[in-house]
This record gives sequence, structure tokens and C-alpha cells, in this order.
Amino acid sequence: MTLHHLNCGTMRPVGSFGGRIAPEHLVAHCLLVERPDGLLLVDTGFGTADVLDPSRLGRPFVAGVRPALDPAETALAQVRALGYAAGDVTDVAVTHLDLDHAGGLADFPAARVHVLGDELEAALHPTLRERARYVAAQWAHGPRWERHAVAGEEWFGFGAVTALGDDVLLVPLRGHTRGHCGVAVRRPDGGWLLHAGDSYFHTDEKQTPPHVPAGLAVFQRVMGVDDLQRRHNQERLRELHAAHADDVTIFSAHDASELAALT
Ligand SMILES: [Zn+2]
Repeated sequence: MTLHHLNCGTMRPVGSFGGRIAPEHLVAHCLLVERPDGLLLVDTGFGTADVLDPSRLGRPFVAGVRPALDPAETALAQVRALGYAAGDVTDVAVTHLDLDHAGGLADFPAARVHVLGDELEAALHPTLRERARYVAAQWAHGPRWERHAVAGEEWFGFGAVTALGDDVLLVPLRGHTRGHCGVAVRRPDGGWLLHAGDSYFHTDEKQTPPHVPAGLAVFQRVMGVDDLQRRHNQERLRELHAAHADDVTIFSAHDASELAALT
């Protein structure tokens, strides 16, 4: 099983003040896994349609977060650069359906899309507060949703649900969104990778004690739908990292240094 770490969306948010308040540069860290029966993509970043029509992401997002929207950064372009076609991606697993994670779904219309049921419910029927974060146009093509129920299995003390075979699990980490999860993928050496999505944003947040630039701390608090759960899950990830760093490589969706360390 070969793993590729991809950046499917560079972002340069305003107000970073040279990295003191927030990182100058964020990535959309996606994972492409060559499995025996097809390709699995974990998260999709921004897609072709976002690049062609950034207005669908909303003016406040484009002006504040400043996505690069480089066609070469789409997952589709990177899948093709590896010699594959869109149809070779049989499965997509999403940590959640925020606009910077779901943009590429339409580039792989034949793929099954694995998602926690609560997250799909939030995206399809958002509350007033949730409405700005989801872009319905990103799933207007009608994805083949594979809605996964509440976790019944145990994975390093976390509840988990098997999404594919015994090597791809959804690990509920709610708080950032209603049905946010991590996606655990077995490494070729038998250990695990955990794509922790937006459960933390800065690599120093997984250290004990955690550290995070002030602006990023505020941003996470404001963006979370359940801050208590978000902070609780972040603490559990810290404990997992402290106890099992050799067995489980944890990375977040947006930290550029974690991506650089893995590529
Ligand atoms: Zn995100």
C-alpha cells in the first residue's frame, strides 16, 4: 500500500502578522492511498469548480483566507500526475464537509464518499449558524454518500467505525463540526496514520503543554460548533500522541510543517 501526502489548497489568511498571530501559510493536507482494489482519497481540498468559480466559496472566505486556487493543487490534477484517472479513485473519506475539505468531491463523481451520518446531516440541513461553512454546490452532482453510524469499535481508546476493509477507520472527533472525525489509515509498516482534520490547527497543539498562536486559538473557538467537545477531543489527541507517537502518526489538515515532514 503506497501513501501520498498532497496539498490540495494553499491558503494565506490575512492578519497573520508574520506568523505571530496566525500561520502565514496553511495547506489542505489530503492523503491518497493506493489500495489493492482502488485509490482512496482522504479529504479533497479545493476542486476544479472552486478554481473556475471562486465566488461559490463566498466573498468573506476568499478575502479573509485567501486560497491560492491553483489548478495544479487540485487532488484531480495530482491524481493524474501520478498516472491515474479520476475513475481510479473508488473511495473518498472526509473528516468533515467544510468548504476547504469537500471542494474536490465533484472531481470524483463515481467514488463512494465515506462520512459520519451527523456530518452529512449538518451539511445537507445546516442550522442558521452552520450555513456559511458549507457550500451545497460542492455536492450538487449527487455523491454516492456512504453514511457511517456511531462508532462501535475500539481504536487506541477511541470509538471508531470501520469504513473500508480493516485498514481505514473513521474516528469521531466532534466539536469543530457536528460530525467531524479523524480518518485512520494503516501504514505499510503496520502502524497508523491519523488524519485529524480540523480537530487542531497547529502542530504544537498536539504537544504537552500545547501552544498555539493567539489568532488561531480564537479562530478555532469561533469556528467550533461545540467548543467543550472540541477541546476535550484535542486533549485526547494529545494523550494519544504522548503515549503512542511511534504507533500513530497524527497530522492535522492545515499545518504546513506536518505536511512537509511527511513528504
Ligand atoms: Zn479546514
